[in-house]
Amino acid sequence: MKELHGKKGFLPRLTSRQVKELPKENALVILPIGAIEQHGPHLPVMTDSLIGEAILTKALEKTKKNLPIWLLPPISYGKSNEHIGFAGTISLSAETLIGIVTDIAVGLRSSGFKKLLLFNTHGGNVDLLHFVSREIYLSTGLILFNFSPGSLGKLMR
Ligand SMILES: [Zn+2]
Repeated sequence: MKELHGKKGFLPRLTSRQVKELPKENALVILPIGAIEQHGPHLPVMTDSLIGEAILTKALEKTKKNLPIWLLPPISYGKSNEHIGFAGTISLSAETLIGIVTDIAVGLRSSGFKKLLLFNTHGGNVDLLHFVSREIYLSTGLILFNFSPGSLGKLMR
């Protein structure tokens, strides 16, 4: 995420006061979520996370300036228990990933944000993120959107 860290919309670059004073009504925060897992004989174990970074970098370059879009540091690990046993796979348990996403959402809500996009590039996270999104909305009122770029390929085929 080195490229994205330097971008204007990288939320943690702001001070607490700047975050407090941001207009939140239409603001959208993006949380990238990937995976560290075996990805075949020729690709690095961070492939899913790197795909997310590349797509977001391009998408934010093409997005109109001054839109209230804010990017968070990624969760580079995912729920990859289907790949356990392959060297290089480091999987979060469902409980851990649910806990991390929930805690981030609670922090955003208490900072005044209303909308969070979960930008997920690992298939094994999909069901869990849909589930946790509903739970977070019910407990905090934060509106969550789920987007997996991989699903676009399936739609277009
Ligand atoms: Zn994956």
